[in-house]
Amino acid sequence: MQPVIYLDENHPISEDRIDPDALKVIHRLKKHDFSAYLVGGSVRDLLLGITPKDFDISTNAKPEEIKTLFRNCLLIGRRFRLAHIRFGPKVFEVSTFRSGDPKDDNFIVNDNEFGTEEQDAKRRDFTINGLLYDPEEHAIIDYVHGLKDVDSKLLRTIGDPVIRFKQDPIRMIRLLKFKARLNFDIEQETDNAIRSNIQEIKKSSPDRVLGEVFKMLETKATSSFFELLMDYGFIQILFPHLSNFLGPDLKGTAFKFLEVADNQEIYQPEKNILLACFLYPILEKKIQIHYIEKDRIPHLGDIFDLTRDLIKDTLVLPFPRFPRWMRETIAFILNSQFKLTPIDPKKRSRKHKLMGHKKFSLALRFLGLRAHLDERCAREYAKIKRLKK
Ligand code: ATP
Ligand code: MG
Repeated sequence: MQPVIYLDENHPISEDRIDPDALKVIHRLKKHDFSAYLVGGSVRDLLLGITPKDFDISTNAKPEEIKTLFRNCLLIGRRFRLAHIRFGPKVFEVSTFRSGDPKDDNFIVNDNEFGTEEQDAKRRDFTINGLLYDPEEHAIIDYVHGLKDVDSKLLRTIGDPVIRFKQDPIRMIRLLKFKARLNFDIEQETDNAIRSNIQEIKKSSPDRVLGEVFKMLETKATSSFFELLMDYGFIQILFPHLSNFLGPDLKGTAFKFLEVADNQEIYQPEKNILLACFLYPILEKKIQIHYIEKDRIPHLGDIFDLTRDLIKDTLVLPFPRFPRWMRETIAFILNSQFKLTPIDPKKRSRKHKLMGHKKFSLALRFLGLRAHLDERCAREYAKIKRLKK
């Protein structure tokens, strides 16, 4: 099939958003008679006027051939070898065109055949992610009618959506991620397919699901992403314990925290704080049920136990390889809240003791979120801020 080619005057990509080192990599491959393009998310972001986070490159050069051209190149991956080309702290991923069978609806276990540039474009997930860009010709090469969908802000799978979701159910999570992040609409057939294949997500490895969720926690669209996960029914499958607790009352509080966090311009998104947004209202509810309603005030040790169990049930059971350091950081953020604003209002805040802790700034940022929703937290937050000056 012949691709549609859009030259300079027919697309809005501006070269100055492209990392000059990515251009060097492409240039060098082309100088040695290989084809090479920017691909995937970077082309999509460039078209949308967003500076891409990373610049992925695809080429017809085989991994060993790439390696001979670049001194700063490392081949990684056993099943499918990829080249990582390093420029200081930056790494560009250069992959050889791959094929994929667009008609086979079996869960993909083997994704490691080399292919043509057309096959490489068509094995990608969504039309907006399937464009190639040749920076030397200033040309977009479109095998998947992707440019049209970027223009009309539409998310559509490449090929039959039911087949593509069955092949790799993680694509459903990615779809909601792009919807939340870019505020695009989902094309009707793609939407029908996701709604009728939700259960397929159980076939994806928890590590990959967690990887996509973590990536999303680095953007400022977490509240809309989790709302979509909930509306479509994924939270119920992926985080069953969390969803049991997030009934209408707590869900509102969790999303308010997330919204405040997403809107804090000055802060870089922080995964542990965002996850704490979900757990904090549940922890408060558990304290209410187990202690306050029984006319008891829990000791800090009791709260630590509840926190530990909550993190285990909500995060570690569904994702056994949930990183330990994150578990500990989330526990610290949550537990510190009860030191900063003790349940017993007669008790004094233990801020002085906590302020020397290396993760104190995270606990304080979380108190800052609570401060948007609660007077007492706002007073305590203001006091600490004054002390720190
Ligand atoms: P982000 O901005 O979050 O990095 P991205 O689109 O660049 O978004 P990556 O995970 O970096 O996402 O993947 C790079 C590209 O690889 C995608 O744009 C898409 O073309 C392709 N891709 C990634 N995951 C899949 C998948 N599960 N199935 C098919 N293609 C995929
Ligand atoms: Mg990417």
